[in-house]
Amino acid sequence: MTESTETRNVIVIGSGPSGYTAAVYAARAQLSPLVFEGSVTAGGALMNTTEVENFPGFRDGIMGPALMDEMRAQAERFGAELVADDVVEVDLTGDVKIVKTATDTYTAKAVILATGSGYRKLDLPDEERLSGRGVSYCATCDGFFFREQHIAVVGGGDSAVEEATFLTRFGSKVSLIVRRDELRASKIMQERAFADPKLEIVWNSVVESINGADSLESLTLKDTVTGETSDLPATGLFIAIGHEPRSELLAGQVDLDDNGYVLVRPGTTATNLPGVFAAGDLVDHTYRQAITAAGTGCSAALDAERYLAELE
Ligand code: FAD
Repeated sequence: MTESTETRNVIVIGSGPSGYTAAVYAARAQLSPLVFEGSVTAGGALMNTTEVENFPGFRDGIMGPALMDEMRAQAERFGAELVADDVVEVDLTGDVKIVKTATDTYTAKAVILATGSGYRKLDLPDEERLSGRGVSYCATCDGFFFREQHIAVVGGGDSAVEEATFLTRFGSKVSLIVRRDELRASKIMQERAFADPKLEIVWNSVVESINGADSLESLTLKDTVTGETSDLPATGLFIAIGHEPRSELLAGQVDLDDNGYVLVRPGTTATNLPGVFAAGDLVDHTYRQAITAAGTGCSAALDAERYLAELE
């Protein structure tokens, strides 16, 4: 393990819209931010999507990875130092914050947490075993593998309905499995789903088991009203039941809510620890959009800048 001797002004942990935006602002404020992007998923959640049509400034839309490449390049242009590595441990309680990767230790006066959130799992016995063998969490990444097959999608929110609608491009049929007798998705998404001839909605149902020897062969569904079970012969299953904030690193140091989202002082990005700020989907379980993540990333950099100015 090597130890960096220089104490930085700001370390940003995370590389989605919130992390890169914080990096742009901190770099332009001459704070020379060091940004940990993660070793596998640099660029965040939008790396897993195709067209982004609702990020202002792109009237014809932009592909998710292209948008993230732009944000990354913009942060670099102003002098942010980017490291494609995972932060595995932090001690944020003192005046000097300690941030560790598997091989190195870094210190900073302020830290911006922007690690986003990950996919929520069904926690069924064979989910892990059949993951990548029919079970997926990302329609954009894996939809192509299920051409002319029967695909199931679990969930009733915006992302489930978006994924199910998207998957009708590939599958012979898409069954959306919904726990209740209504969808939580926005009205426009629902209308799109109801109008899609390839999309069937299986109401009042949950997945009881995921079946298959080497790859997914079927699902056992349970009717939440009658308790009856039935077999759905799907060879693809996309699980779209929400996200888990990536806050494991922070437990016991930064205050979290009951679902693991970082708590910030209302109207700010300040956590309970002086000099520690948080932004994006790690904090936000309401809006969870690229633009809102970018917005709070900006706020976090400005809050950090003011905090550092007060230290001088
Ligand atoms: P994320 O984008 O999740 O980025 C966080 C990143 O931080 C991680 O991916 C990883 O690279 C890094 N990281 C995490 N932990 C560590 C660690 N320990 N060390 C180092 N780095 C770490 N929003 C829209 O506005 N429009 C859309 O069209 C849209 N489409 C979407 C489609 C899909 C399939 C998905 C999943 C999301 C979509 N969203 C969309 C939502 C949007 O992507 C998120 O709201 C946004 O990316 C959240 O940004 P973030 O910066 O908070 O976190």
